[in-house]
Amino acid sequence: MKKLIFLGPPGAGKGTQAQTLATSYQIPHISTGDILRQAMTAQTPLGQKAKIYVDKGELVPDELILDLIKERLTQPDSKKGWVLDGFPRNLAQASFLEQLLANLNQSPDFALNLIVPDEVLITRMLERGRRDDNEDTIRRRLQVYRNETAPVISFYQQRGILQSINGNQSMEAVTSSLQAAIES
Ligand code: AMP
Repeated sequence: MKKLIFLGPPGAGKGTQAQTLATSYQIPHISTGDILRQAMTAQTPLGQKAKIYVDKGELVPDELILDLIKERLTQPDSKKGWVLDGFPRNLAQASFLEQLLANLNQSPDFALNLIVPDEVLITRMLERGRRDDNEDTIRRRLQVYRNETAPVISFYQQRGILQSINGNQSMEAVTSSLQAAIES
């Protein structure tokens, strides 16, 4: 029964680490970025609306994300735990999640904050080469992270569940540090 929230800037390795932990704890990996990219590929109404924002490195409006998260977290497989990756991305989303989980009689165990220097983030994103990984978009996503997402770190610190991890290590070392924090 692990309920984990991944925080940290774009390129910090949230997706990889979230997937590894989800596999090891046998719980769903819920990535709002993956859900949006799938919707964009399938050109669903959600995908068509989201594309405008994703391609610019802006956050997709909350009203497109909140229903999606509510729907996903109320599915039966989410009862035994989950790893959230890319959500919450601002304080409004964090408050929404808190209320939603309270209604479900749940609460997160840890908010895991991966810390990685900016120059490493930029190199990693350029190497990854996703559709929103060009230089202008990367710069914008880092700005959006600082302005809107970084405040979420204090939100979870105040709730006493924040664990900060050095994300500038080998993939395996980051996984070990995360597991040590979660099992502590
Ligand atoms: P990610 O894969 O988490 O880096 O997300 C890629 C892009 O999807 C972001 O730059 C945003 O445009 C959008 N996105 C993902 N998650 C969210 C969210 N929780 N709220 C708003 N936009 C999001």
